[in-house]
Amino acid sequence: MLRTQIARLSTTLRRYNLSPHRIEILALFPILAIATAALSNRSVAELTGIVLPALLIVDAIGRAMTRRPVPGEITSVDAMTGLPTRPALDHALAEVAASDGRLTTACLFIRIDGHEHLAQRWGADARDEILRRTAERLQTVIRTEDVAARVEDGTFGLVLRPKPAGRPDQPEALAQRVANALGEPLHIAGSTALVTISIGIAVPGELGINDLARGAEAAVAEAQKTRKGSIRSFSRDLQERLSRDIELVRAVDNGLTTGEIRAWYQPQVCTDSGQITGFEALARWHHPTLGTLSPGQFLDAIANAGCMPRLSEVMLQNALSALASWDRKGLKIPTVSVNFSPEELRDPRLADRVKWEVDRFDIRPARVTIEILESVAALGHDDAILGNIDQFANHGFNLDLDDFGTGQASIQNIRRFRVQRIKIDRSFVTAIDTDPEQQSIVAAILSLAQHLGVETLAEGVETPGEHSILAQLGCGNVQGFGVARPMPFEDTFAWIDGHRARSAPTPLIGRNTG
Ligand code: C2E
Ligand code: CA
Ligand code: CA
Repeated sequence: MLRTQIARLSTTLRRYNLSPHRIEILALFPILAIATAALSNRSVAELTGIVLPALLIVDAIGRAMTRRPVPGEITSVDAMTGLPTRPALDHALAEVAASDGRLTTACLFIRIDGHEHLAQRWGADARDEILRRTAERLQTVIRTEDVAARVEDGTFGLVLRPKPAGRPDQPEALAQRVANALGEPLHIAGSTALVTISIGIAVPGELGINDLARGAEAAVAEAQKTRKGSIRSFSRDLQERLSRDIELVRAVDNGLTTGEIRAWYQPQVCTDSGQITGFEALARWHHPTLGTLSPGQFLDAIANAGCMPRLSEVMLQNALSALASWDRKGLKIPTVSVNFSPEELRDPRLADRVKWEVDRFDIRPARVTIEILESVAALGHDDAILGNIDQFANHGFNLDLDDFGTGQASIQNIRRFRVQRIKIDRSFVTAIDTDPEQQSIVAAILSLAQHLGVETLAEGVETPGEHSILAQLGCGNVQGFGVARPMPFEDTFAWIDGHRARSAPTPLIGRNTG
């Protein structure tokens, strides 16, 4: 396509350091040509008068099609895609900001969903080809004077052409065009790669012009978090959440040290006997001003503060202390479950560290269940994760496959990982008593589990109806608000007593049992 060819030629000119400032000096050459013609040297006159201006025109068209001129000194070109890198965006925004309110613009961040797995899925060459072709497509969709850049791996940024302040662009329409064009199937090395694109948009208002790139970046992260393949605009809500997240990141260290961040416990019960089979430890942050926060509100802050290993340490310590306390009271709680994030599971010493801790507490590994997300178990080729999972099983810990049904773990992996139990995700459990489709899915999962010889637990069981149909279908254990909500450690004693009193067999009165 001509547009793409011109864009490439123009990029090549600049890659060889024919930056705009330098090449524009060539504009002097026609004058030189006239002067040499006047001195009657025709061939030099033709060369300078025709070839060099032609080069200039190609470069000018190319630059106009892809982006506004960017001084070569402050930006570099990404070798893979030929697009400029992030400073080009900041520079374009700074230019609009320098217009003192006469001009306005908007910024888009465009991200290939799951770009970090492209190489694993398609191979490194195909990943590069996907990125190159995506960049080319982007250049064909954008307009003259929009500035496009490759920001990082699978992320591109766009600063829209400046417009008079009273007549801003509508970036949503452009975002939709970009999403459609970039989401078209890509034919690479004989196969068809389908990628989805998430887009974040930031317009001036909540943010100053110079902050638009930061806003668009936050918006695309939010889009990916809520629904991959969606378009999300920066909003006051998001701004408030970001400020709160920054506050939380600062407070993580203190929260972990002082015990503000600690485990709550949610019971798991056997559908046959009603007996407690274990408790899952779930993180809560008792924040001094924000109240009790759930993991969804602070796990990112912990990850951003680089404190995930410390969270797992705290959670494990809490869980083991809880088990030891229940033991001391003679409460006979069989197991406690802990969650580990994929990043933690990549720590090659994790399994050994956990083993060391249980030994210190003098607790048998078989009384501790490690919950691994099914999506993590599906990454069958990550050596560090595989090593840990293997080592956990060798040490005798129980393995639960969490959120089962959402992560495409292969049957082979379930076997290979020596999984003891699958935790059927809440999405299959909700309304199972009234929805035949849910019943068929869960029945299929239960039958698979039976064939594989693994136990089952249904998560998110909220109503007696759901509880009883799960029991009828043969699901071994249930966990959910219908049994009990997660509770602070102090409350577990009363709950255990109450539950046992409620589920104790009714004494047989007035019959001769002897
Ligand atoms: P999860 O491991 O799937 O935990 C179950 C989540 O479902 C918990 O949310 C629990 O409160 C909630 N839940 C339980 N029963 C019901 C129910 O009947 N209905 C509904 N609607 N929800 C129910 P929570 O505590 O907010 O935790 C969310 C996720 O955060 C957990 O999902 C887990 O993936 C993660 N998480 C929690 N604690 C830790 C931790 O210590 N480390 C790591 N890495 N992740 C953790
Ligand atoms: Ca879990
Ligand atoms: Ca779960």
